[in-house]
Amino acid sequence: MGLLEGKFAIVTGAASARGLGKATAKLFAEHGATVAILDLDEDAAKAAAADIGEQHVGLACNVIDKDACQAAVDALTAKWGRIDILVNNAGITQPLKSLQIEAGNYDAVMDVNLRGTLYMSQVCMPIMQQQKSGSVVNLSSVSAQRGGGIFGGPHYSAAKAGILGLTKAMAREFAPDQIRFNAICPGFIATDITGGKLTPEMKEMILEGIPMGRAGEASDVAGCALFLASDLSAYCTGTEVDVNGGSLIH
Ligand code: NAD
Repeated sequence: MGLLEGKFAIVTGAASARGLGKATAKLFAEHGATVAILDLDEDAAKAAAADIGEQHVGLACNVIDKDACQAAVDALTAKWGRIDILVNNAGITQPLKSLQIEAGNYDAVMDVNLRGTLYMSQVCMPIMQQQKSGSVVNLSSVSAQRGGGIFGGPHYSAAKAGILGLTKAMAREFAPDQIRFNAICPGFIATDITGGKLTPEMKEMILEGIPMGRAGEASDVAGCALFLASDLSAYCTGTEVDVNGGSLIH
């Protein structure tokens, strides 16, 4: 029996083939969940969903557009009748220094990471409140905790630190409804988020700072998301869980 048997889950930004969202969606499906993959491109979302099994759903949804978030959640609620799990995984990063951050950089990074997490959480709350159950897992980053130094710039650290605050405040607000909010802080995980901009020197420097001596795998993060989504973590809310190979021990 899987840990998520009979559960319905949304994972945002899960179309990226080597990404944390796709690995999470796949692991949830293996544990019995029915999963909706939301991403910018409809065909990519549908293909990713089909790849993990025929009952799963792929939808286009830009998480910075609240109407699009509402429309996606309305469509899923109509189909499933409930939503048990939301993983706010959609995110972007940019390797900029403080003085290079222009308005457009700030808006893009803050909006996808932080505004998107807020909007998706907002539109899922009424159904989770009605159910009196739900688990929301937000993707923060070690960059929020240690002040960057991995790949993303200060605006990325700020957005991911914002996610920690949002997670804790919403955990407190919705605990009486038995809705849990937790954050994952991944360290350096080998995915495509660095968009080919990670040089061998940067990689070497990052690896030197990881006591376990290796980059993380997407499955390392997916396993943590499974724990937080499932009833194994029933009494955990407002937590931040480090998945970083020891690169920040505090
Ligand atoms: P990725 O680039 O492989 O995947 C991100 C996905 O988000 C893509 O499919 C992209 O299309 C989607 N996306 C981007 N903007 C969107 C929007 N506006 N609406 C909907 N979807 C959108 O990235 P990843 O490495 O799998 O990262 C997943 C999450 O984990 C991100 O939030 C990232 O910041 C966080 N994270 C990653 C690492 C790492 O080392 N890879 C470390 C810490 C945190």
